[in-house]
Amino acid sequence: LSRYWTDFHEIEQIGNGNFSCVFKVLKRIDGCFYAVKKSTRLLHQDTERRKALMEVQALAALGFHENIVGYYSSWFENEQLFIQMELCDHSLSIRKPSKLSTEGELLEIIYQMAKALQFIHEKGIAHLDVKPDNIYIKNGVYKLGDFGCATLLDSTLPIEEGDARYMPQEVLNDNYDHLDKVDIFSLGAAIYELIRGSALPESGHLSLNLREGKLPLLPGHSVQFQNLLKAMIDPDPVRRPSAKELVKNPIFDRDQRTGKNHYS
Ligand code: ATP
Ligand code: MG
Ligand code: MG
Repeated sequence: LSRYWTDFHEIEQIGNGNFSCVFKVLKRIDGCFYAVKKSTRLLHQDTERRKALMEVQALAALGFHENIVGYYSSWFENEQLFIQMELCDHSLSIRKPSKLSTEGELLEIIYQMAKALQFIHEKGIAHLDVKPDNIYIKNGVYKLGDFGCATLLDSTLPIEEGDARYMPQEVLNDNYDHLDKVDIFSLGAAIYELIRGSALPESGHLSLNLREGKLPLLPGHSVQFQNLLKAMIDPDPVRRPSAKELVKNPIFDRDQRTGKNHYS
């Protein structure tokens, strides 16, 4: 008897990753839509299972936050892991055609992701795969998703970091002393990619420059904004702002009158 087919009606496939595919489903008993992520590789071995379980254990340990893709439940079925999550509209992947974001929109993404990162870092977890692909949007709210690379901040186990294009130099040198700051660098690189409008290359001058903290000039963007991004990709993880410090940056100050950010 399949829990998946008993409890859910599969609507359509909405994405696929390296080891998984994601479906939009209707839960029969409550009449609501969800996203279900199924592992596509059979998890026979204990080590494979344990790695796959890190994702759900991180999600479950974190609990609810507005800027994190919601987690409902998970189970094994025929050696596949199923994860029932909040259904989002889409991710910020630059592979999907989208108009370039304004500075106000970019600041909103940084602010909301900084709040998500502050929340997970305070719970002792690093994401380690922050990139446009893993930032979702639902009803105008940005949500961090895909905790497939998440690890404990003080982990002594070898980490499995995410997409190398968004990784700072210290991680490539196998220095894992400030894993919270890895997420800050990745967020900075992700924002730069959104401005650029095309995928960051795997190697070459641009990626070298970013890892050295050299940001190309961003015409049309304020000096204050460019300095913020530069600080986020500082090659020294200690000098990079923490998520908590980012959230407090005056650049995000809210207009008391409208309750809106001054830049929106
Ligand atoms: P990768 O190996 O590339 O990191 P993955 O196997 O970890 O991928 P996810 O990134 O979690 O898988 O999901 C794959 C794709 O499915 C996403 O890029 C996105 O298009 C879609 N997707 C995942 N989760 C959701 C969700 N909650 N709501 C809407 N779409 C989703
Ligand atoms: Mg992903
Ligand atoms: Mg993943």
